[in-house]
Amino acid sequence: MTDDHSKPWETTRRGLLLLVSSPAGAGKTSLSRRLVSDNADMTLSISATTRDPRPGEEEGREYFFVDRPGFEAMIAQGHFLEWAEVNGNLYGTPKAAVMAALDAGKDVLFDIDWQGAKQIAEAASADSVRVFILPPSWEDLSRRLHARAQDSEAVINSRLLLGKDEIAHWGAYDYVIVNKNFDRAYADLSHIYRAERLKPGRNTWLPEFVEGLLAEG
Ligand code: 5GP
Repeated sequence: MTDDHSKPWETTRRGLLLLVSSPAGAGKTSLSRRLVSDNADMTLSISATTRDPRPGEEEGREYFFVDRPGFEAMIAQGHFLEWAEVNGNLYGTPKAAVMAALDAGKDVLFDIDWQGAKQIAEAASADSVRVFILPPSWEDLSRRLHARAQDSEAVINSRLLLGKDEIAHWGAYDYVIVNKNFDRAYADLSHIYRAERLKPGRNTWLPEFVEGLLAEG
């Protein structure tokens, strides 16, 4: 390949939107964050939320924490690509950051509930890939939520109840991973990402590359 062809190889790719959903406690956040940290071409969409920060969470790292009037003003200003109410709190995906990431040739991972995944997949169906993470058992899910020790018993119970509603939507997803073992589940997620990344339509440099290849021969 000549230098002329190496540039499109690096730059003309079409960003992929990886939408990852699961009930709370199934390991979605750890899996997602590891995939983003292992892939320089991928960035995490940081949502805004009206829920309170949990111990250890930082403004702008896990979420942008805003109050309800502030969130409602952001909705009115068209700030969000999608937003939804989950367990009494509002969550939304800021549009500008996602657009900037796509313009910069990055893929974007969304840690998002089924309502948000549905909205984004409908708006950008060719660019969206939906992955659902399931726990290996209900007992395991409950154990993981308790082990986090970040929430009260009442909050844990409402998150478990909400998890049932989330799981009910698993059939709308392109891929489903049962997170029995973190390394195995991570390998599966990583392979899904790599395979989806190799689809011809996501590599807009390919026609020119193939043309050059044939011209050389
Ligand atoms: P948590 O409070 O545990 O961080 O998140 C609760 C749920 O909200 C999770 O299922 C999470 O994926 C989802 N969520 C986080 N950010 C967004 C968002 O921007 N939009 C939507 N629709 N859901 C989100």
